[in-house]
Parts: sequence; C-alpha cells; structure tokens
Amino acid sequence: MNIISNYNLKELTSFNVDCNAAKYIEFNNEFELRTTLATEEFQDFFHTNSHFVLGDGSNVLFTKDFPGLVIRANIKHINVVKTTDKHVYVEAGAGVLWDDFVAFVVGKGWFGAENLSLIPGTVGAVPVQNIGAYGVEAASIIDTVYYYSFDAGVKHELAGEDCKFGYRTSIFKTDLAESVLISSVLFRLRINGELNFSYNGVKEAFAQQEEQNLRGFRRAIIAIRQSKLPDPKVLGNAGSFFKNPVVSTETANKLLTINPTMPVYEVQGKAFTKKLSAAWLIESAGLKGLTLGNAAVYEKHALILTNKGNATGKEIHELAQTIQTKVFEKFGVKLEPEVIVL
Ligand SMILES: Cc1cc2nc3c(=O)[nH]c(=O)nc-3n(C[C@H](O)[C@H](O)[C@H](O)COP(=O)(O)OP(=O)(O)OC[C@H]3O[C@@H](n4cnc5c(N)ncnc54)[C@H](O)[C@@H]3O)c2cc1C
Repeated sequence: MNIISNYNLKELTSFNVDCNAAKYIEFNNEFELRTTLATEEFQDFFHTNSHFVLGDGSNVLFTKDFPGLVIRANIKHINVVKTTDKHVYVEAGAGVLWDDFVAFVVGKGWFGAENLSLIPGTVGAVPVQNIGAYGVEAASIIDTVYYYSFDAGVKHELAGEDCKFGYRTSIFKTDLAESVLISSVLFRLRINGELNFSYNGVKEAFAQQEEQNLRGFRRAIIAIRQSKLPDPKVLGNAGSFFKNPVVSTETANKLLTINPTMPVYEVQGKAFTKKLSAAWLIESAGLKGLTLGNAAVYEKHALILTNKGNATGKEIHELAQTIQTKVFEKFGVKLEPEVIVL
C-alpha cells in the first residue's frame, strides 16, 4: 500500500490553487484497488482519517489543506462489452478522461455522448453529478455504474435507472456520498441516432462545420464551448460555480413582474417550479467582472469564477460567498454551489 504524505494537489485541480493533502493514494487498476481495500492496514487507516475521492479536480475547490486521505482511481480502459441491433455498450474505467471517451465513441460513429463533448474531468465523476450540457445529461446514456464500498471493499453494480439522477445530482452525491469509489461506468450508445439541436445556437454552429455528420457535430459543440468558457490550463476555473436555482412558480412570477427580461425555464416533471439563470442573476446584480484579490468573476460569463494568478482557495470561496449574499439581497434567491467546496 503506497500512501504518500503531504501530497501537493495544485496540479490536480482545475482551479489550480495551492494546497496539500495530508495523505494521498492512487489506484492504477482494479486489482490494486480491490486488494488494497481488503487489507487491514487500509481499513484501519481509512476509519481513522477523513477522505475525499478526487477525479480530475475540475469540480472541486480546496479552501485549505486537506487533513485526511485523498484517493484517486486512475483506472484507464475502454472496452466494447456488447452490441445489439440498436445499441453498443462500452465500459470505461474511472480514470479515463471524459472527453477522450467522447472522442472514442464519436470516432466510432456511436450516438449519445456528442453534446457532452469537451466537458473536463474523468469518467468516474460523470455519474456523480450527472454531467450535462447542450440539452443532454449523462443519465441518458449510463447503463450501469460499478463501484466499491470503502468499508467492506466489495464491488457493486447499480443500474442507471437506480442512480437517482437529477439536475447535477445522483445517489453518489446523496445516499452513497463519500462511502464508495466508482471504478468504471457502462455506457449505452446508439448505433443509429439523431443529433440533438435543442439548445440555442447548436444548429448554427453545426451549419458552419465542413462535415455534416456526428464528427462535425462534436466539433460544433467544441467550438461553442471554446468561444464561451475559459481553458482551465490558461485560467484556473471549475466551470459553472453555482447551480441554476429552482424556485416556486409563484416566486418566479413575482420576480418577473419586477424584472420582465429575466429568463425563466420549465423544470421537467415538476409542475409548480421554475428554473432561473444563475448567470443572469449574478450579472444583473452587477457582479460580472467583480474581483477579490486574485479571484474574479469571468468577464465573459458571470457563472464562472476564475483564479487570475495566485488566488488561494479561500479567496475564491470568499468571492463566491459575496456573490451569494449580493444576489440574495437583490433577488431573494439563494445560489447553491455546483462546485464541491472543501
Ligand atoms: C471549464 C469547465 C467547464 C465545465 N463544464 C461543465 C458542463 O458543461 N457540464 C457539467 O456538468 N460540468 C461541467 N464542468 C464541471 C466538471 O467538469 C464536471 O463536474 C466533471 O464531471 C468533474 O470531473 P472530475 O473528474 O474533475 O471530478 P472531481 O472534480 O475531481 O470530483 C467531482 C466529484 O466527483 C467525485 N468523484 C470523482 N471521481 C470519483 C470516483 N471515481 N468515484 C466516486 N466519486 C468520484 C468527487 O468526490 C467529487 O464529489 C466544467 C468544469 C470546467 C473546469
């Protein structure tokens, strides 16, 4: 068992903030994971320390050194498991970069993941927050999630329909939070699919592509994302810092009478609730571009908080709290972080 002490995490998170984990362990394959979890040494260590499972760190903000054990599943494989007349089932290890997986399936001509192109992070984190973009959520293509429970080191599998997927949430953020490590995910891709143009601007971006096919569609999504979102390798960030708030229809209507241009969206399957745009609320509270030390609200997108250089996690967190307070004062709406703050 190779537990490393005082491990620096700066390069392992997209906010690129300096912090150390008291202890760090990485599993490079499932055998290593299974055999280590079964040892008394690991179980003793695990039960006397706090822990956090880290993927590629693109949805996490460390505000201080982590006092416990950081665990990473660096398991990398992509296997085609079975094919039916309509679907291909592809299993990917938790440590595979999500966009490498999307590139692989799009390259094969299989449909379902293309709208989720270029989302940073690993396959292991995909079911955790049910990543979503451009009108599609990962839940729509997740067949089975394979995971190990830390306490017993036993492997489990959970069908997608039992994962309690919701808007940026799943059972792995609720009932099973912090008690399991996802080792791989089985995805169900369509052999013959239709492209999903439901999100504004996708059709127009696709029309500009040379290849009018699945590959061209992926390029269109990548082009849209690159025009809007800062590259974490250049400017530290974790994508959308806050979730779009879901409020009662009554609250939405009250806000609309005072702010008639405010965007309001339906929430699928929920009759008396509406979703608001967190970006609009932040921008309308005059906070776009707000800077606090080395942390700033991105000039081009109010939902993104950035590390302009040597920001500390604490500074970024303080900026987030300032935004929450000001938005609440102006609109009476509570913004909830999408990013995990530690
Ligand atoms: C520029 C940018 C754009 C983004 N755009 C989007 C977007 O469009 N849509 C979207 O949904 N998200 C987006 N994100 C957020 C982020 O990419 C996703 O949340 C991603 O899934 C996080 O993956 P990760 O491997 O970095 O996970 P981490 O940030 O390391 O961890 C995220 C959570 O998953 C858990 N976790 C990670 N791996 C495992 C595992 N193997 N087993 C159990 N739990 C695990 C962690 O404990 C943590 O709770 C964006 C981020 C950035 C930086």
